[in-house]
Amino acid sequence: MQSPQPTHHDVIIIGGGPQALAVASRLREQTPGALYTDTEHERLLWHVRHKKRAPNVQNIDPLAVHSESYPCAATPRELSILVLDKGAGKWMHQWRRGFEALEISHLRSPMFFHPDPSDPDALKAFALREGREKELVEIEGVVSRMVSKHEQKKKRYVKRKPLGSNVNERDRCQYFTPSSTLFCDFCDEVIDRYNLANIIQQGDVRDIQHTVHPATSESIFHVSLSDGRASTSRYVVLALGAATIPNIPRPPIGEERCAMCHSSEVIARGFVVCPALQEKINRGEETCVALVGGGLTSAQIADVLLRKGVSHVYLICRGHLKVKHFDFPLTWLGKYKNLHHADFWSQQDPAARVAMIREARNGGSITPAYHAILQSHRAAKRLTIKPHTTVADQTWCSASRNWNIHLAPATGPAKTICCDHVYWATGSTVSIGDLPFLANFRAAHPIELCCGFPCITRDLQWRPDVPLFVVGGYAALEIGPAAFNLLGSRSGAERIVRRMGEMMEGGCDSCGVEETTLGAEGEDDGEWDGLEELRGGAGNWFEALGEIDA
Ligand SMILES: Cc1cc2nc3c(=O)[nH]c(=O)nc-3n(C[C@H](O)[C@H](O)[C@H](O)COP(=O)(O)OP(=O)(O)OC[C@H]3O[C@@H](n4cnc5c(N)ncnc54)[C@H](O)[C@@H]3O)c2cc1C
Repeated sequence: MQSPQPTHHDVIIIGGGPQALAVASRLREQTPGALYTDTEHERLLWHVRHKKRAPNVQNIDPLAVHSESYPCAATPRELSILVLDKGAGKWMHQWRRGFEALEISHLRSPMFFHPDPSDPDALKAFALREGREKELVEIEGVVSRMVSKHEQKKKRYVKRKPLGSNVNERDRCQYFTPSSTLFCDFCDEVIDRYNLANIIQQGDVRDIQHTVHPATSESIFHVSLSDGRASTSRYVVLALGAATIPNIPRPPIGEERCAMCHSSEVIARGFVVCPALQEKINRGEETCVALVGGGLTSAQIADVLLRKGVSHVYLICRGHLKVKHFDFPLTWLGKYKNLHHADFWSQQDPAARVAMIREARNGGSITPAYHAILQSHRAAKRLTIKPHTTVADQTWCSASRNWNIHLAPATGPAKTICCDHVYWATGSTVSIGDLPFLANFRAAHPIELCCGFPCITRDLQWRPDVPLFVVGGYAALEIGPAAFNLLGSRSGAERIVRRMGEMMEGGCDSCGVEETTLGAEGEDDGEWDGLEELRGGAGNWFEALGEIDA
């Protein structure tokens, strides 16, 4: 049977999670942020002054954009966007499934972590508008009550500095976590507002090819799916999530498969207790599960397992169980965040940036709320936490259908525990080089990789001459530690759309002659064009100080 004719679009976004939603909605947003901070004022001015160059779609002449050979339904006001997600033809499928599987009632992140490009306070405003303030839970100990200087003097308050002193005053009211349903309803509202519901399709991308039309110099991507369908586009955005290779010592073989799994499978497929374990639970027999990992996912899995009737869980952590509100320090969010970002962006060595990201994220940690839950399970003697312990070996006994897990504690004698099932909540290794569907594309358009992260341009572009963009965890070398979270979604989308706007204005030949890639030396024409970038919402304001001095 002949494959159907490829459909053509301006932009194809691969992945339908929150990062993809941020890009798609930013592409359809006609204005900069609705609440004007100083930076936003600058951006608005930039848009007014450079009306012709602004990335908003109303400035794009579709006839100039599309060659005759690739007709497209875009109007001057709306780009044609196709979103492909291998999970489902629905937005946020993976996100919803993960939250349902782990029965997570509230997000970990505060209210200003969201994908809506129109307003940094949009999620808070949505909660208030819908009368759903009760679904917000205060992140305790982060923002303290404001104490006036007079009161401080009176009470000699200065001795113990409140944690909240690092918080940006503007964000003070944002340190609440939304309920999972509130957040999903908010995302649905964003999808409706920008008319994005019908642009997403189920599709597992198997190959990407990029060519430049010899006559028109138009850049064309050819995206092939596993079911034989294909689509073409001028731009591609990868919004794949960060997980590539699950960290497990060895993949299970034979009948081990139904007694061992990685947390990414739980998130991707939903929480299904394996049949043998479920039968034992149903018969009221003693059951035991070993859970390896010290991050929030391991705490969530432990809680779900114990609530599903497992008698005992061993939680095995390499270090001690770290208790933190966020998975990177508040200093990257608070009023001194610019110092951290300035430091990060001034590092030209990708390896140094990776080191900074790792230091900031500092492995897995659990929230105070989940710490309290684990403590209650411990008190009920249903949970044993084994800190500073690694798994030296594991052997499967076919006769008893049990695992023998050999533990190597940092101090004290080795121990073996016998259990029915093993869960590895040990995270995944980011490695874009190991994504099979990108193999041909990477061979044709090679770039430097550092510890699995692609060394992309400041505008999150693969290479200055290849208009493929990367968001989410794979863009961490440019976005920083926030790339793995919702926080990085808006700033990533902003950079990409700004760059696309520039390219649309200049045609395909403008594919980034001026762009510099991390680690690569750009040609210095003696003029500093950074101010332009800052006005476009990207770049580092601290660099400007150096330039002005010079
Ligand atoms: C349980 C859990 C809770 C979390 N809670 C928070 C939180 O509270 N706050 C926060 O900021 N962050 C949280 N995170 C981090 C969170 O993963 C990110 O913030 C967010 O999901 C990243 O969005 P994304 O779009 O990059 O990835 P995802 O949501 O993972 O979406 C990526 C999509 O790409 C699709 N895809 C991948 N490869 C292909 C392909 N070849 N073809 C087609 N489609 C493909 C996948 O099917 C998937 O749907 C949480 C993560 C987990 C797992």
